[in-house]
Amino acid sequence: MNNSDLIRIAQEYGSPVYVYDAEKITSQYKRLTDAFSGVPKLRLNYAAKALSNISILKLMNSLGSGLDTVSVQEVQLGLRAGFKPEDIIFTPNGVSLEELEQVAAMGVQINIDNLSILEQFGSKHPDIPVCIRINPHVMAGGNTNISVGHIDSKFGISIHQIPHLLRIVENTGMHINGIHMHTGSDILDIEVFLYASEILFENARNFKDLEFIDFGSGFKVPYKPDDIATDVAELGAKLTARFNEFCAETGKDLTLAFEPGKFLVSEAGYFITKVNVVKQTTSTVFAQVDSGFNHLIRPMFYNSYHHIYNLTNPGGKERFYSVVGYICETDTFANNRRIAAISEGDLLCFKNAGAYCFSMASNYNSRYRPAEVLWLNGQAHLIRKRETFDDLLHNQVEVSLEVPEQETPAT
Ligand SMILES: *Cc1c(COP(=O)(O)O)cnc(C)c1O
Repeated sequence: MNNSDLIRIAQEYGSPVYVYDAEKITSQYKRLTDAFSGVPKLRLNYAAKALSNISILKLMNSLGSGLDTVSVQEVQLGLRAGFKPEDIIFTPNGVSLEELEQVAAMGVQINIDNLSILEQFGSKHPDIPVCIRINPHVMAGGNTNISVGHIDSKFGISIHQIPHLLRIVENTGMHINGIHMHTGSDILDIEVFLYASEILFENARNFKDLEFIDFGSGFKVPYKPDDIATDVAELGAKLTARFNEFCAETGKDLTLAFEPGKFLVSEAGYFITKVNVVKQTTSTVFAQVDSGFNHLIRPMFYNSYHHIYNLTNPGGKERFYSVVGYICETDTFANNRRIAAISEGDLLCFKNAGAYCFSMASNYNSRYRPAEVLWLNGQAHLIRKRETFDDLLHNQVEVSLEVPEQETPAT
């Protein structure tokens, strides 16, 4: 998929539009399975929340991936996409006992991240095996918004509560078949990741029914042109050796699981917008596009960087721009960015638009959510239509404001 393909897609389906490259998703999946090819039993569960379009889920299923879900609705989407219940893991946090029971009844592996629900679930359903989410309290990565393994994080059961957890398991007679951690979203230091893994191995020895160890995700992908990414080949080699050694030493035939979201889809995505206005102020040149944080919230929400380039004038002389949206409040995609000279009507392309972009889009300002297109085998396939006015009103109920006629009271 090249720039002229992207331009043609924007011409055909309008702007703004999300485009995903199936080939990139496939090659990322392969990179990860190759890195862990030395593990006899490997399971990759794609984290659906990163990009949950049903066609993307079907693509993941066709690659042999499992599915990591965080809501009963994601489980239902996964089943609709063709995943078997046993290929799905449910890794929510803070959901009700009822939702866990509903998902477990579908035959999906559940993962519990707090002792209160663990005890309630174990007491009622001691025969349904459960995975537990452990918080190893290891800080991974620098972004505290997406770092979820630290001591004050709401995620997981603290390693300091393992004795209490073991008492619950013994008292209820429940079976722990998996142990899981998800430390955050920015693993740069492989040694830190391996250190957290050791904590998991240590605790894994406590569970005689163990079938898998799930190392979560947090694979860093490059966002800026000079960004460093997680070296998955190095991580694969080191963790594979350690994992196989652990299995041999404990005599267990375990599955090694991961649940990557961003790693599989981030770089596969492109978000194309059109420049409505170029506005020169005393200090800055603004390029104002036909979109906003309603469609791509990551820069405003997490202060994340998305590389932006001029699709229709790539060779133009570079100037500094602030790229902003049309939402009626501060709505900045990028500040002081060097971009090839922008004219009104140019198409700007945002990179890394596969993960947590469309899936976090809203109708704020009563705008339609964009179309999504999958580039597959050299062809564009529309996988979600742009919304219409009817979508905005769907589910709204118009109340009648007519004053009902008063009946004359009987005398
Ligand atoms: C969101 C999430 C993931 C995926 O994280 P990425 O950074 O997108 O790879 C994995 N596991 C759990 C439990 C999650 O909530």
